[in-house]
Amino acid sequence: MQTELTDPFGRKIEYVRLSVTDRCDLRCFYCMPQGFRDFEEPEDWLTFAEIERVIRAFAELGVSRVRLTGGEPLVRKGIVELSQTLAGLPGIHDLSLSSNATRMDKYAADLRHAGIKRINVSLDSLRPEVFREITLGKLEKVINGLMAAKAAGFGPIKINMVMMKGLNDMEAEDMVEFCIEHDFTLRFIETMPMGDTGRNASNRYISLQTIEQRLAKRYALIPGMMPGGGPARYVQVAGTELRIGFITPISQHFCETCNRVRLSVDGTLYMCLGQEERYALRPLLRDGISDDELKQHIIRALALKPRNHDFSKKPEQLVRFMSMTGG
Ligand code: SAM
Ligand code: SF4
Repeated sequence: MQTELTDPFGRKIEYVRLSVTDRCDLRCFYCMPQGFRDFEEPEDWLTFAEIERVIRAFAELGVSRVRLTGGEPLVRKGIVELSQTLAGLPGIHDLSLSSNATRMDKYAADLRHAGIKRINVSLDSLRPEVFREITLGKLEKVINGLMAAKAAGFGPIKINMVMMKGLNDMEAEDMVEFCIEHDFTLRFIETMPMGDTGRNASNRYISLQTIEQRLAKRYALIPGMMPGGGPARYVQVAGTELRIGFITPISQHFCETCNRVRLSVDGTLYMCLGQEERYALRPLLRDGISDDELKQHIIRALALKPRNHDFSKKPEQLVRFMSMTGG
């Protein structure tokens, strides 16, 4: 039996982004519509036993890295127990989590004990009123969550900041200072046209080259590296430990080095954030397929992986919100 996953373009797949819920306690306007309630029904969520089975199959096919995401993963009940189970699977060497951190003060220490190694936290503004405008939430909760994560000993903690013209782009320098002070890594992200929400945010699109050029006037930026850096290109602020990553799906494609697939809460494997190719695993799991058959299906699914997204050429094509696929 095959022990490696390769797609039709020769890319080795070693990373699964696992959405444990499509629900969220925030409503970032570029991600989820304000009154949105059309969530997956609980009976359609993969159970923890089903998730474990699928991730075990991936691990046997050479996947070593898993990131828990959503929606907001910390709203799924039992997330600590699930983390512990996945961290203990043979072959899974790197279990990480993306969160908005509103509930992190409650969970940080337990998640760390459960085996989560690294966390990424969304933080688009340090100004309470701007934060509320973007997310409908309270900045204070996120800051408390971040401090709890720091106290629990997570490192590196990466801050993800979606850059939006005229809304928070003027805060880039403030965020740099905040991250230097707290020893966080900072990543700027370009808005992506995912679903109507993402497209609505497209008029706020700003190329990250503009931000980098502006920062270069104030800071000496030298080429930097970051383990597990994924699609981000990093620079380091000279004289500090701060690394800044630029995630530029729109202005500079990073598809040639794509190493991942996404598993949504309803058990659908998505081959690309920006395309429709998918493979439904839940009906197969509930039909009683064997572990070997499950692996064969995963291999078959990988054959569907497209070469790249078409965000720039066909921004209208994608109807899924980011929270549905697992960002
Ligand atoms: N709730 C968690 C969080 O906010 O980190 C995890 C899920 S969220 C969908 C993952 C990431 O996707 C966040 O960093 C968020 O900012 C980003 N995201 C969501 N919609 C986006 C869009 N249209 N364009 C760019 N980034 C987006
Ligand atoms: Fe929730 Fe994260 Fe989407 Fe914001 S980006 S609405 S925190 S899932």
